[in-house]
Amino acid sequence: MFTAEVGDDVYGEDPSVKLLESMAAQLFGREAALFSPSGTMSNQIGIKVHTRPGDEVICESQAHVYIYEGGGIAFNSGSQVKALPGDRGRINAAQVLAAINPDDVHKARTSLVCLENTSNRGGGACYEMAGMQAIREVCKNHNLKLHLDGARLFNALVATGENPLEYGRLFDSISICLNKGLGCPMGSLLIGDDDYIRQARRVRKVFGGGMRQAGYMAAAGIYALENHIHRLQRDHDHARILAEKLAVKEFVIEVMPVQTNILIFSVAGKYTPASFTTRLREKNIKCSAISPTQVRMVTHLDVTEAMIDRTLQVIDTL
Ligand SMILES: *Cc1c(COP(=O)(O)O)cnc(C)c1O
Repeated sequence: MFTAEVGDDVYGEDPSVKLLESMAAQLFGREAALFSPSGTMSNQIGIKVHTRPGDEVICESQAHVYIYEGGGIAFNSGSQVKALPGDRGRINAAQVLAAINPDDVHKARTSLVCLENTSNRGGGACYEMAGMQAIREVCKNHNLKLHLDGARLFNALVATGENPLEYGRLFDSISICLNKGLGCPMGSLLIGDDDYIRQARRVRKVFGGGMRQAGYMAAAGIYALENHIHRLQRDHDHARILAEKLAVKEFVIEVMPVQTNILIFSVAGKYTPASFTTRLREKNIKCSAISPTQVRMVTHLDVTEAMIDRTLQVIDTL
């Protein structure tokens, strides 16, 4: 990062940002990409370009774009959300089809479907490729755009062995995060065709996300794309080991299936989520209480095998 070649990216003159953007576009077989400071901004720009005020966006009821972006779809795009109950964060083509509004002046114009893969609140669950293809088909037949919140997409790619080019063909736009499993201090990329990214670049400026010598940050992204994708499997293995240990504890009621690096489980009896997380915090192990019954743990590249071993030992004593 210190030795990155930089320039003024607002003038399109930062070679490191340009390289990162072209690497991301190429990886998904698309024309262009746009570097943003956060995944939230990347999603919000993506949605803004696809919609007009008064539109309706279809997504899952626990989707990040809906529940964790500060009401951004309403604030930034003037659009409303139709939130569908999913299976561990995933919706299906029949649900999407049924949710599309008819062409009627009383109704909001349905213009966009957002999917999230992997699903954060779904415990890192991955979509089936066939399921996403069926949703694409519905979108095509009803003139809807399809956006992917792929903040954790690399976890899905590693877990399923899918090719990123398949995603590039399926979605009008994809947002990926460099600051999650890939381990960068900051940064996300929005990926699409030239015309879409040109409009997105304008919206990024309006949102205040045009950055000058951003190449220092882009350099971390380039490193991550080259070095941090395949190692995600280790995070998935760590999450599974933790899940197996927790599953046999009498105070653990249910462990959601672990496909990637997120582990969500419910506790009862001896612990509440709050008392469980406090107890672990005393041992310097951080996890979150995410509902009155559930705890969430996430593994990542800064969590070493030794840390997992120690966590297993601590769980043994609970
Ligand atoms: C973290 C996350 C985001 C947003 O990323 P930030 O960089 O934290 O703004 C978007 N979607 C999902 C599913 C996420 O997990």
